[in-house]
Amino acid sequence: MIFQGKSIRCSDCRTTFTFTASEQEFFQSKGFTNEPKRCLSCRRTNKARRSDSNNYSYSSKL
Ligand SMILES: [Zn+2]
Repeated sequence: MIFQGKSIRCSDCRTTFTFTASEQEFFQSKGFTNEPKRCLSCRRTNKARRSDSNNYSYSSKL
């Protein structure tokens, strides 16, 4: 299967990001069928926020 880069709008920050061919390949190799809804930086932020339960950094981003 040939993958092509795809533009997706992040559901958090509304930035359009590219779901690259290699990411799609990775997703499929993991058995994921859904496309990512968030850009990489929001995914990272989310992950960090989840593993670190205090919310001190939230207001500094505004
Ligand atoms: Zn985002």
